[in-house]
Amino acid sequence: MAALPAGATIGILGGGQLGRMIAIGAAQLGYRCHVFAPDDHSVAADVSAAHTRADWHDGPALSAFAADCDVITYEFENVPVAPLQLLDQAKLAPGPRALEVAQDRLSEKTFVTRLGGRPAPFADVASMADLEAAIARHGTPAIVKTRRDGYDGKGQWRINSAADMDAAEIGKTALVYEGFVTFECEFSVILVRGRDGEVRFWDSTHNTHENGILAHSVLPAPAIVGEQLAEARALARKVAEELSYVGVMTCEFFATSEGPVFNEMAPRVHNSGHWSIEGAVTSQFENHVRAICGLPLGDTSAVAGRIVMDNLIGEVALDVVGHLSDPRAHLHLYGKAEARPGRKMGHVTRVG
Ligand code: AMP
Repeated sequence: MAALPAGATIGILGGGQLGRMIAIGAAQLGYRCHVFAPDDHSVAADVSAAHTRADWHDGPALSAFAADCDVITYEFENVPVAPLQLLDQAKLAPGPRALEVAQDRLSEKTFVTRLGGRPAPFADVASMADLEAAIARHGTPAIVKTRRDGYDGKGQWRINSAADMDAAEIGKTALVYEGFVTFECEFSVILVRGRDGEVRFWDSTHNTHENGILAHSVLPAPAIVGEQLAEARALARKVAEELSYVGVMTCEFFATSEGPVFNEMAPRVHNSGHWSIEGAVTSQFENHVRAICGLPLGDTSAVAGRIVMDNLIGEVALDVVGHLSDPRAHLHLYGKAEARPGRKMGHVTRVG
């Protein structure tokens, strides 16, 4: 594909803060953005040229949206795939196969295993008998997760025996058993792949979670991450190549005494890469735009040895003056109306 000229339109499926930061990166390169999101209020649409507010399954709305866009991308991995299959596939970047794989924890783990990656022991759980068989084979403690639509620790049950699992949940939604991984720390590999197949990686941060939600990403990561990075990156690269991926993609890992254990992938820019806005020569958002628009990729190197990104979750985000009392703090607020507990409202990055 020839590089898209300035003034071209990028379609973004999904209306949250990731879309907002993609749109800001796109604006810098002279593009306009059109957001498609069913939400009444979209913080991505707030900074974009156009917003189609319609259901994911509204075919005519989706077609009209696609006709206005030169390229279409995602900021949300749970966009239903079937309606996308009716659109001009050449406009979609990355292709919907990446969504299909990442939307289902079982297909994601099976896919990665086939490529030589190592997830936690896993099994499909369609019945109590399946759960008992998985426990007999792989043991406890374990985590039972919904195969679809889980995020930020939602849709997960930690169990020590089959009796700990709410029997009413089984059969209600598709579930997957996961062996509990004892890890030293969590890290993610974020890469960008261009239309010509060039791949670049950002440095991997040490990610810590609170209540299942990413709280902090810190560079440098502990030494164990450095030791496991080559293997983790090789797997992430294989995933991207196998999917003919274009854009930014993330794989999350547990660093364990036996090497990197794959947790999950996101076919999009990622919260653990927000530090790159000020902390890397080229941010994940700008490079995502460059990749999908067929532009040369930018340098992903970190600009300092120590970089800290803190998520602002819930009401803590409201203390704007407090956050800015540190003159080195880069404050990002996502423009969400209500600071509910557990809601990602913004983040702060400190470089150096
Ligand atoms: P997830 O939504 O699958 O990324 O899970 C959210 C968080 O729960 C992860 O970042 C880990 O801290 C923890 N977690 C998820 N799966 C496992 C596992 N199999 N073993 C240990 N901890 C896990």
